[in-house]
Amino acid sequence: MQFATRAIHAGQEADPAVGAVAPSLHLSSIYAYESPGVTRAGYEYIRDGNPTRSALETCLASLENAPDGCPALCFSSGMAAIDGVMRLLRPGERVLMARGVYGGTTKLAEEVLRPAGIEVTYADATDSARFAEAITPQTRLIWIETPSNPLLRLTDIAAVAEAGHRVGALVAVDSTFATPYFQNPLDLGADVVMHSTTKYLGGHSDLLGGALIVRDPALRGRLYKLQKTTGAVAAPFDCWLTLRGVRSLAARMRLHESNAFAVARFLEEHPRVAAIHYPGLPSHLQNELAMRQMRGFGGMVAFEMKEGAAAARKVLERTHLFILAASLGGVESIISYPTLMSHAPLTPQERQRRGISDGLIRLSVGLEDAQDLIADLDQALKN
Ligand SMILES: *Cc1c(COP(=O)(O)O)cnc(C)c1O
Repeated sequence: MQFATRAIHAGQEADPAVGAVAPSLHLSSIYAYESPGVTRAGYEYIRDGNPTRSALETCLASLENAPDGCPALCFSSGMAAIDGVMRLLRPGERVLMARGVYGGTTKLAEEVLRPAGIEVTYADATDSARFAEAITPQTRLIWIETPSNPLLRLTDIAAVAEAGHRVGALVAVDSTFATPYFQNPLDLGADVVMHSTTKYLGGHSDLLGGALIVRDPALRGRLYKLQKTTGAVAAPFDCWLTLRGVRSLAARMRLHESNAFAVARFLEEHPRVAAIHYPGLPSHLQNELAMRQMRGFGGMVAFEMKEGAAAARKVLERTHLFILAASLGGVESIISYPTLMSHAPLTPQERQRRGISDGLIRLSVGLEDAQDLIADLDQALKN
């Protein structure tokens, strides 16, 4: 079955007891046993498993082309999902991260992993050959994020997976920006896919969640044990909301993309815009890689004002439809300023090294009418 069909049907059969068509929200924390030690449907206690969470886990595994018998694992947040993978590491082992991954991931590496005796190294992952040079026999885990935040740079997943597997390292991909509609890292050789379901999968800016999808049942077993022990599970209501969002994922992503294309083309022509970052544009440095490993380019766009910080600030203050806020992936359009928001903790030198200028603006292009979105940017960009 095709993606849009699986998004609506995988894990979502009508309830066998009462015939309910919409997925049921199961809030019960405990389940009655048939007899001592014998469960009715495998459920005992909410931290171990929950039917609403199971439905979402079955659906997400299907969308990422995981093998049968390897459902996703749904966590209380994207960060909890990332932490779940990192807990596979032992002191003295090494994790190699792409430079410029999500700020929370770097924070976890520096403030939790490093103090726990895990070696953390970084390398630029936009050039996969150079990135591979940073892989050593001690590297147990490789963490990449593609497309990346905020510059929409890509990493060649297949090339990194091959290089990582040569030393027996696990390769994990934060695929939050792409969503499974546009990219399936397991098909390209990755071992783990991670999503912040808070973003496009939920899609309505009203929940917090994360997910891991793997293709080795033994690895899933280890991650499940860690998750159950630490209690980093998604709440039933958040799972129910996420599943509600996922059902319309295909339709939403098509529209996010066509609106993003329209906005990107408008900005590319604008005389006050110095640079535009959107993987779907032929001018994007990695457009060829994007065409090869993605089926589309998503709804995130970044651009740089010619006149720098002061000009950027005016645009950020003047948009009406684009809401000045932190997150992304919801139906509403969001505008954000990496220098003072997501990337404020970095030093100016580090931001410069990563190519994040003070004139850079990031857009999460929503599902409003494209003409209205362009008109909003047009008036905000008037000098
Ligand atoms: C938001 C985000 C995260 C963290 O997810 P939370 O759900 O906020 O914990 C990780 N990676 C990327 C790319 C994100 O955008």
